[in-house]
Amino acid sequence: MGRKNRRRDEEARPLGPAVSSRQVEAHPDGDWIVQRTSGSAATKPYRCPGCDQLIPPATPHVVAYPAEDPSGLESRRHWHTPCWSARDRRAPRGGR
Ligand SMILES: [Zn+2]
Repeated sequence: MGRKNRRRDEEARPLGPAVSSRQVEAHPDGDWIVQRTSGSAATKPYRCPGCDQLIPPATPHVVAYPAEDPSGLESRRHWHTPCWSARDRRAPRGGR
């Protein structure tokens, strides 16, 4: 039985090398397309809307934009990974 399973290299996809994964996350303010990026392709710092600090180039971070926004790619934001995770916990309007 000299059978070899070698049909692995057909899965390569022409996506951008910096985008490792993309998923839809449900949040209180709607669905968001979320991408975890290594940041290695970044050439300039981005300002994180969560903490208002800059994300230095080559820092792994999260890119997110509203799923229902037709021009979402233009309104996408770059977040520190922990800031994105903390986003739901500090809702802008805590009704109290
Ligand atoms: Zn931040």
